[in-house]
Amino acid sequence: MTPELAAMPMRDERAMRDNEDAPDAVPVPHELVPHLGETAILLDIDGTLLDLMPTPREVWVPPGLSVTLKGLVERTSGALALVSGRSLNDIDLIFAPDVYRAVAGHGAEMRLSVDNEADDVHAPPMDKELKRRLAAIAKLSPGILLEDKGYSLALHYRLAPHAEKAIYESVSLIRADLPNAPIEVLPGKFVCEIKHSGFTKASGVRELMKHEPFRGRRPLFIGDDVTDETVFAIMPDMNGLAFSVGRRAIGVNGHFDAPADVRAFLARLLDTSGA
Ligand SMILES: [Mg+2]
Repeated sequence: MTPELAAMPMRDERAMRDNEDAPDAVPVPHELVPHLGETAILLDIDGTLLDLMPTPREVWVPPGLSVTLKGLVERTSGALALVSGRSLNDIDLIFAPDVYRAVAGHGAEMRLSVDNEADDVHAPPMDKELKRRLAAIAKLSPGILLEDKGYSLALHYRLAPHAEKAIYESVSLIRADLPNAPIEVLPGKFVCEIKHSGFTKASGVRELMKHEPFRGRRPLFIGDDVTDETVFAIMPDMNGLAFSVGRRAIGVNGHFDAPADVRAFLARLLDTSGA
């Protein structure tokens, strides 16, 4: 890989819509955050808690973050969940040996208890034949990278940007051929992700919030991506708070510049609540 390519962030940089009317990045005031005993903390992973890396496999959990998250789990009586497009399995590998409650696979999977893996909820995986047809799109051009996320399939074309039109045309043809296939296309910057349309991060969060220890608490959600906008949108229904990372998203209570600022905020939240 050339240095230029290595320096390019590669995944999930779906350009979030910028809200031009929003103020510039400001630190999130503590007064906005209620007592942790009444709060549910919901956190996206990539680009929110962790810095984006050239490939999804290279993300890294700073040691301090693990301490902060475990402290917040304790302080919220367990009402902390990771909310990600990644699978539960993938999340566990990244945070090992720590295990967290989670909404995973864009809502396809849910973990309500960290004590018993058998209680994890899984949607049926994407239809194999459909997956095979979508996967064949990667053969359109060298440089198209296929990522099987289990409940979704991502076609990365940063190394073959000329193939963008052909990729989306091929996806459209497959959808036209299978009008009843419950799939949804998530367009991103140099990535086309295809997922089951029956769930979203928002549907996962709604379900999660019906269960202990989340039920009745005020959700605080932080995310950076287009798929997180579905969760920003439902926060008002739950008297929740939403914060975006990087760009200013529409309808959020505030935003952070970078994942490092989110980590610092969470550490301060823990310190303050312990004081
Ligand atoms: Mg993200």
